[in-house]
Amino acid sequence: MIVGQCRATRLPGAALAREPRRPAVVFAGGVALPFDASGRVATWSGSARLPGDPLNRVHIKTYGCQMNERDSEAVAAMLRARGYRIVDDEDDCDILLLNTCSVRDLAEQKAIGKAGHMAARKRRNPRFILGVLGCMAQNRGASLLDQLPDVDLVIGTQKFHQVAGYLDNLRAARDAGLPVGQSIVDIAEEAGSQNAIRDHELQERQVSALVSIQQGCDMHCAFCIVPKTRGDERSRPMVDIVAECRTLVAQGVRDITLLGQIVTSYGRRDYARDGGRSAFVQLLEKVHEIDGLERIRFTSPHPCGFHQDLIEAYGRLPKLCEYVHLPLQSGSNRILKAMHRPYTRERYLELLAALRAVRPDMYISTDVIVGFPGETEEDFEQTRALFEAANYDMAYVFKYSIRTGTPAAELGDQIPEEVKEARNQTLLDLLAANSRRRNDALLGTVQEVLVEGPDKKGRRYMGRTRGNRIVHFDGSERLIGQLVPVRITQVTVSVLYGELQLAGV
Ligand code: SF4
Repeated sequence: MIVGQCRATRLPGAALAREPRRPAVVFAGGVALPFDASGRVATWSGSARLPGDPLNRVHIKTYGCQMNERDSEAVAAMLRARGYRIVDDEDDCDILLLNTCSVRDLAEQKAIGKAGHMAARKRRNPRFILGVLGCMAQNRGASLLDQLPDVDLVIGTQKFHQVAGYLDNLRAARDAGLPVGQSIVDIAEEAGSQNAIRDHELQERQVSALVSIQQGCDMHCAFCIVPKTRGDERSRPMVDIVAECRTLVAQGVRDITLLGQIVTSYGRRDYARDGGRSAFVQLLEKVHEIDGLERIRFTSPHPCGFHQDLIEAYGRLPKLCEYVHLPLQSGSNRILKAMHRPYTRERYLELLAALRAVRPDMYISTDVIVGFPGETEEDFEQTRALFEAANYDMAYVFKYSIRTGTPAAELGDQIPEEVKEARNQTLLDLLAANSRRRNDALLGTVQEVLVEGPDKKGRRYMGRTRGNRIVHFDGSERLIGQLVPVRITQVTVSVLYGELQLAGV
């Protein structure tokens, strides 16, 4: 593993062409360019800006989950604070950063394909800077350069806050006319790095925001690469999270989703339980106290983290929306054990019943993997039966695929693709029927909708119910950010349409 800030830049006259790209070595015509603790070139003028075109337009392309979206947003905010411009068009940027996903081999291949394609642009324009960030960078490290030798930056999940410093260095070297000989690879662990994901890039009148509360996971599910790519569980201080939420609300945000790889483990090593309430429930209470905040959600939790204190929180914290994502993965105890998921189908069903006892109108979504190695027809039938009984409103159903670097990748008894496909389809059919049934039940009811803004076509407005259903209706701009009553008049499997129940709008 390459550790630390490693950059080699050569002075004019150095034998660059004969040297292969090698990360982790700092030479510059016999003179090392010193880097300070933040990764900037310590001897440089201190500014990467140049007379003329600063070539500082950055486009960040994000793959994967909401955590990655949030990380990209924080990187964008840090870059903007350093004078970079964030642009929407990847064809019109000077610096392209790919924030990657590693959850499946396919996700990595997609990002590698994209980086390979962009490397051709770099060969046409040597001043173009290409970086790979996030989970795949962490997972592959310097070996990524074997496939993608033109990549300038490989930055892991604990080093997002160093991106701006490294780009300053690259641009300073490039703008001074120094040929660039080597790539920067930094995938080291860094204590406190979870605290760096705090800055936001709010759009005008943005209503919803993601707030990162925790990084990493100590659970080691057999199919999951996250413990490797995101590291050990690390939580942010409660006081920082609450302050960030307060600032967002002061800027107009009304709906906050607390994010982490395993949010129900939040702060378990940093804060004592208080009156039987876990650190996570204490955090929910503190965020709930913020005036002006209307809705709170969180993702992703673990079924093992749903104790009575969290279930009861749904009954006493009205801003905590009646929507919960409760990953199932499998309905077979035998497969759950093989997955290293320490709960049973019976315990999972108990949790669902307890949540619905507190909030009968609870919307529930889940993650399920079909075709895990060794999954028999009987195992799948257990999953199917539980899936049907759970009456999910939303689900992410995955066909198992070998994820290199995970314990499950070593297992035999792989399930044929056509069997996985059939099992996948069975669950998707059930889900569509459930979702439609739930939406049909909303016809004629009046739902509280938080207005987000115009819909994609710009003809109507859209917002979300407390159950996270999208609703389209005729509205007006002044309603953005407000809770309004909407009567549901038409439904599809995934979308609701309605009429505003306000006079004079
Ligand atoms: S709890 Fe979630 S993030 Fe952690 S190892 Fe399991 S699936 Fe991965």
